[in-house]
Amino acid sequence: MKFLQSALLGVLLVVSAQAQTALADEVVVYSARNEQLIKPLFDAYSKETGVKVKFITDKEGPLMARLKAEGRNTPADLFMTVDAGNLWQAAQEDLLKPINSKVLMANIPAHLRDPGNEWFGLSVRARTVIYNSNKVKPSDLGTYEDLASSNWKGRLCLRTSKKVYNQSLVGMMMYEHGEDKAEQVVRGWVANLATTPFPDDTKAMEAVAAGLCDATIVNTYYYGRLMEKKPNLPLAIFWPNQNVKNKSAGVHVNISGAGVARHAKNEAGAIKLLEWLSSEKAQNLYADVNMEYPANPKVKPDAAVAAWGQFKPNLINVAQAGALQAKAVMLMDRAGFK
Ligand code: FE
Repeated sequence: MKFLQSALLGVLLVVSAQAQTALADEVVVYSARNEQLIKPLFDAYSKETGVKVKFITDKEGPLMARLKAEGRNTPADLFMTVDAGNLWQAAQEDLLKPINSKVLMANIPAHLRDPGNEWFGLSVRARTVIYNSNKVKPSDLGTYEDLASSNWKGRLCLRTSKKVYNQSLVGMMMYEHGEDKAEQVVRGWVANLATTPFPDDTKAMEAVAAGLCDATIVNTYYYGRLMEKKPNLPLAIFWPNQNVKNKSAGVHVNISGAGVARHAKNEAGAIKLLEWLSSEKAQNLYADVNMEYPANPKVKPDAAVAAWGQFKPNLINVAQAGALQAKAVMLMDRAGFK
């Protein structure tokens, strides 16, 4: 009997040791970035390290709800999504935990990561002005704020304010200008709209190309994708706020990024994967697949992206976009931005 007991205990110990090893060799990712963007990266990581990366993909809302509902029982080690607004929200809801990593601190500039180190940017997306090159000269353009002036009456198209990208953009403007001035700008944009806001960036650009309006504000990778498909569209990129000296200097940038899940079972493995994603080796793969900019400044963007020209980015911490998101939503609502 005694023998049986200790034999059984031995078996249990072996089983649990195996479970531990399996855990250490596997990282589970919840990703709002879709499979075609992340799978090549995870495959490369597995090939290099032998660590298996399991992932599920969904929209950020359901993934965050799932993390919350699963609590301590979540299998997730890493949460990956787009927009600092979403990452900020996840941190706010206590779904992430602070990461202590010298590698990440060195690879990712301060304005592209959470001041509390709960999330780090992995790619940069610029939300910039796209104009109809048959109707507008670059010299007609200057700043995001200028698009609120009466010169642009009936000439502007925008994506809906329901999208986090515009909520973050307006949040950043609130941080730069204060609420009143930001509201004036948004009211000006609304007054200048040629038509009701579009459900996505691509539709807004197609309206500009079709001559329904003269300019819009979109993330550059949508421009890249559209021009790849239809290279003859009369659309061009403009980098606004380049000669501005105050806080609103530079093109608005946002990130896609990731943080370690609050109840990660393999925290060390999650951090290792994040560090690898921020490395020079992985950054091109991460950014190029979606025509974004690498977050690691040592890495150059893809040639097609670089061809759009260089710009000065706004250097305010992207976390501000999250912190002011709820107020930005209310402001846009007040201003009639649908
Ligand atoms: Fe997007």
